[in-house]
Amino acid sequence: MTNRTFTMIKPDATLKGNTGGILDMINKAGFRIVAMKMMHLSAEKAGEFYGVHKERAFYGELVEFMSRGAITAAILEKENAVEDFRKLIGATNPAQAEEGTIRKKYATSIGENAVHGSDSDENAQIEGDFFFSKLEQF
Ligand code: ATP
Ligand code: MG
Repeated sequence: MTNRTFTMIKPDATLKGNTGGILDMINKAGFRIVAMKMMHLSAEKAGEFYGVHKERAFYGELVEFMSRGAITAAILEKENAVEDFRKLIGATNPAQAEEGTIRKKYATSIGENAVHGSDSDENAQIEGDFFFSKLEQF
């Protein structure tokens, strides 16, 4: 499926009350929400989601951060969704994120960067299926 991507609004953004502002930017950029839920990840679930980074020095910090508060998970639909969404969120490190991006506006550091976006069509599918059953994807 090439027209969908997966996103999470991360705990830093949730705890600062930025969920609505981020969803507004997503809507204004032309993405349609086709699945959405709010949940508090266990450390185990957060670690499983970011399993690809298991060997990285920041993995423990990442798991602690992602299980610190609630996240909002969503599947988004738009032409060229994966690439366009990565452009909308901006660079991993907010210091390098361009003006007008979600991370420029809402992220505070390379670790606490407000939002996740899938990096490929294949991962978008895997990540969406991690959170949503077929019945929950519209
Ligand atoms: P995401 O996958 O969350 O969209 P990304 O693709 O921009 O982010 P990745 O390299 O996949 O970046 O890293 C995943 C997440 O791990 C980052 O978003 C950030 O929260 C955390 N992270 C990455 N690098 C560091 C670092 N050097 N120090 C602390 N945390 C980091
Ligand atoms: Mg990534």
